[in-house]
Amino acid sequence: MTNKFTIKDFNKMYPDDKACLDEIFRNRYGDLKFCPQCKKETNFYKIRGRKSYACQYCGYQISPLADTIFHKSSTSLRNWFYSIYLFSVSKNGVSAKELERQLGVTYKCAWRIARQIRLLFKQNREILSDIIEIDETYIGGKHKGKRGRGSENKTAVMGLASVLEILCKPQITTRGYRP
Ligand SMILES: [Zn+2]
Repeated sequence: MTNKFTIKDFNKMYPDDKACLDEIFRNRYGDLKFCPQCKKETNFYKIRGRKSYACQYCGYQISPLADTIFHKSSTSLRNWFYSIYLFSVSKNGVSAKELERQLGVTYKCAWRIARQIRLLFKQNREILSDIIEIDETYIGGKHKGKRGRGSENKTAVMGLASVLEILCKPQITTRGYRP
């Protein structure tokens, strides 16, 4: 059971909104070494009080949330991540009522988050069913070498990482719903 990604692991990995934003930045831009504008080898630093990063030389800005489900959302990134975590570890899905209770948000807000995540999970079902298979193989302790997208070191934490990878991609957001 040591490979299971628990709530403790989650809290350690994503203690706050900044950690979540960094994760999205990494997901979308990887190890961005060169600035697209000044072409210098640079470091992007987070702009204080904003959900953006800037080039240390020319100030070129990158907003990793643009065109993702997190963009313009009044829900905190950490609440989004926690919801995604709950969805990714639950086999039978998560109800809006459950999210309302866990996040301490209104039912309406919880319902919108659940709807958006379900929709994205549905759109990426193939990739996700692969992840769930890997996850179950591990939990069951019957792991035999390489299988599917999984490798020897693939753990449940990768399941969540892959889910996030999908969610961090620019999406065509669903009609009018901004949780
Ligand atoms: Zn630059």
